[in-house]
Amino acid sequence: VKKSISCEEALDLPRPTCAPKRTVFVVAAALIDADGRVLMAQRPEGKAMAGLWEFPGGKMEQGETPEFALMREIEEELGVETRPCCYTPIGMASHGYDDFHLIMPLYACRVWRGEPQMHEHAGLKWAFPHEMYAMPMPEADLPLIPQLETYLGRG
Ligand code: C5P
Repeated sequence: VKKSISCEEALDLPRPTCAPKRTVFVVAAALIDADGRVLMAQRPEGKAMAGLWEFPGGKMEQGETPEFALMREIEEELGVETRPCCYTPIGMASHGYDDFHLIMPLYACRVWRGEPQMHEHAGLKWAFPHEMYAMPMPEADLPLIPQLETYLGRG
């Protein structure tokens, strides 16, 4: 279990050395329905962190804007049609896993076409942000929940 320390305590420690970790950029989407529920997707068997509930999305490819990457990923993963202008940035996660560092901005999307389908996930669930605290999620996604609550006006 990692112990988190305050910035004041950290300033009294030696400056950390930068471990040779890869930085991975993943863009994540909160598809929000008319009642304020958000679509969560369960990672499938065979992938890292199988069974955990995540915000759908994925890695940006060379030359893509974040919004374009989301349009592509959301169509691939969920069969749902969107456009880059459907995505508004609302949050950010920066999380150090053991083997890589993940940078993951979160975008809200309220307009799309089609019913979400499980093209790549093991489950789909519409959840209010407060319900997410009871769902097993990747560590990197956890700080996005209060950011989402703030955006939705319940924070
Ligand atoms: O989905 P994919 O496996 O390509 O994502 C790359 C990595 O980013 C995952 O192995 C996972 O560790 C992390 N990730 C995450 N939260 C997400 C999506 C990905 O922590 N919502």
